[in-house]
Amino acid sequence: MTPASGCAPLDHLALARGTVDRVTKRRRDQDWIDAAWKDPRTRVLVVHDGHALVRSDEELVFVAPQEAPAGIRFLLGEDTDSTVYFGVSAPLGPAAGSIRATSLREVGALLSDRDAGLLTHAVALANWHDTHVCCPLDGTPTVPDAAGHSTMCPKDGSEHFPRTDPAVIMLVTDPEDRCLLARNAAWPGRRVSILAGFVEPGESAEQAVIREVAEETGIVVTNVCYLGSQPWPMPRSLMLGFRAEAPAGQVIAVDHEELAEARWEPRRPARRAAGRRAGPAPVGVDRPAHHRGLVRRPPAVHLDATTPVLNMALATPSGVASSSARRVTAAGRRGSRRCCRWRRRRSRPADRSR
Ligand SMILES: [Zn+2]
Repeated sequence: MTPASGCAPLDHLALARGTVDRVTKRRRDQDWIDAAWKDPRTRVLVVHDGHALVRSDEELVFVAPQEAPAGIRFLLGEDTDSTVYFGVSAPLGPAAGSIRATSLREVGALLSDRDAGLLTHAVALANWHDTHVCCPLDGTPTVPDAAGHSTMCPKDGSEHFPRTDPAVIMLVTDPEDRCLLARNAAWPGRRVSILAGFVEPGESAEQAVIREVAEETGIVVTNVCYLGSQPWPMPRSLMLGFRAEAPAGQVIAVDHEELAEARWEPRRPARRAAGRRAGPAPVGVDRPAHHRGLVRRPPAVHLDATTPVLNMALATPSGVASSSARRVTAAGRRGSRRCCRWRRRRSRPADRSR
């Protein structure tokens, strides 16, 4: 999917930064896989329930193959220095000192490009293996295949692949350049987000944007514009980012099943609120511990969602002014870079975080 002309594309999204070659062609090359597993340079990432061991909240902790616990194993890829990475779905080893078990949601934005990609890939595969253990046709326990990237039913030979559920997240603006923010009924006090929802079967992503906004707020949107995507394996989504415009003269009518409230907020203050959380905050902002020291004064609104998506979308002007959109987005990035540890860490040499 290509961003529509006139829309500034979202790049450098927290979970879309992987750098390791997935070496798809090697997944059925058992000799190569066996040799890689015996190579002491090979690194193994153990993941369990969406968590992995992370050092100082910024570096994945790998183990050598001979130290890896028993569990479902999957090939993650091969780096440019010929280091091969595997994932294993198994209970994590002990955490001590600066090492702790951390979720992708908490730490995804803080890791290097390489580590963010490896953890996202590993969590996505582990989540799938954990919940899809039997053949959907006859209930027979399946066995991993293609280096953990599919499973096979030993009874009927059917092959099964990981499932990815497309989800849409959209910044809706009105002619006064206000953005539509909403609070989920299950969320506390001031926490709000731009709207999001799942794509239904037989529906395009753009149709899902229009439907979700209308269902949740009663607002009819036009000019739906694709911006970019990032994997969101919590547990198995691909998040597609959009802009959409709401013609003037509409009244918000909240669907109180999902939302407690929805309102128009001027985009600049909303972006400032998001920017206060856009740096070291986790990819989704919902844990107060991560806000300490980051938010000196409580903002008028608490913005949730994939922070880089939200922040960069908020920095993009409405309408179709392509060149100015890119300038403003770039300015937004420079501004956020000043307070973004994760951006600095992205540029670290990859081998430092092994
Ligand atoms: Zn079967």
